[in-house]
Amino acid sequence: MTEQRIHDSIIIGSGPAGYTAAIYLGRAGYRPLVITGALTPGGQLINTTEVENFPGFPDGILGPELMDRMSEQAKKFGAELVQDDVVSVDFDGDVKTLRTDSGKTYQTRTVIVATGSQPRKLGVPGEEEFSGRGVSYCATCDGFFFRNKPIVVVGGGDSAMEEADFLSRFGSSVTLVHRRNEFRASQIMVDRVRQNPKITLAMNAVVSAIHGDDQSGATEVELTDTVDDSVRTIPANGVFVAIGHDPQTDFLGDAVEKNDDGTIRVDGGSTRTSADGVFAAGDNADSVYRQAISAAGMGCRAALDAQTYLIDSHA
Ligand code: NAP
Repeated sequence: MTEQRIHDSIIIGSGPAGYTAAIYLGRAGYRPLVITGALTPGGQLINTTEVENFPGFPDGILGPELMDRMSEQAKKFGAELVQDDVVSVDFDGDVKTLRTDSGKTYQTRTVIVATGSQPRKLGVPGEEEFSGRGVSYCATCDGFFFRNKPIVVVGGGDSAMEEADFLSRFGSSVTLVHRRNEFRASQIMVDRVRQNPKITLAMNAVVSAIHGDDQSGATEVELTDTVDDSVRTIPANGVFVAIGHDPQTDFLGDAVEKNDDGTIRVDGGSTRTSADGVFAAGDNADSVYRQAISAAGMGCRAALDAQTYLIDSHA
């Protein structure tokens, strides 16, 4: 079904970047449409517990609550929300076309792409097979299922530290597996992990296979030493993969130029993409900072860039 109206602006995605863009465009009177994603509006913060570094919340705020508040704020200023996935786009010409998973077609003068990123996979035997039966990409979603069971967390960044610390509340043990002997994570998070008596570090090691059976799901992981190639197995009913994220930009095809890592290429310090009237904000266009607050800031800039474009193209 094709909508007859031509929107001024459609925002694809509902993380901090998307909602911030919606708040700014809403306050400017453009009544933006936000296509939030079909499954989990709110983006990655929906799967987070306490957010301690978003300015304005000195006592921290729960990720889902922060996103609910952003959504309410966007609606208050006239944003319309639709829960659907955009599956293909046509950015040629002044009026852009977006097609969604539910078969709808939308037309708009400007687009802000704010689709974020998705968890990276290990790509080892057993990962796919035991996904949802031991292998997880979200500690806060699935940690509870591994009460008093051995848990492995993979990764050396802030996410892995946060997840290992969180999961130590549930598991009988937590082994943090990292491929180097130095962490990428911030010192405060590393210190917290090192001081946690339930967490054991397996440095210079990668998970090379995940074993299990039909009845129990995952039961153990095979670790390969990255220095001497030796192999050992350790028990693991929960395997939490926290090795970063890839931008969700596949649905754009070649409608905009991308960088080698799949992020959308923007023009200098602006949010302008290679397609006229199309702007990008947040993790799908940022492989460096990737914070809720930096995504929100970029969402603000995208809204201002889109406004300038709308004003100039009507002049
Ligand atoms: P990240 O910083 O990119 O770290 C990914 C980690 O996974 C790295 O240690 C990397 O190892 C490892 N890795 C990548 N591919 C791997 C593979 N195939 N096999 C094994 N290990 C692999 O990702 P992140 O931890 O998700 O953090 C993303 C951003 O969010 C960061 O900017 C972070 O600061 C932020 N964040 C902040 C908080 C907070 O402040 N509360 C919490 C979570 C995340 P190498 O180090 O060897 O490359």
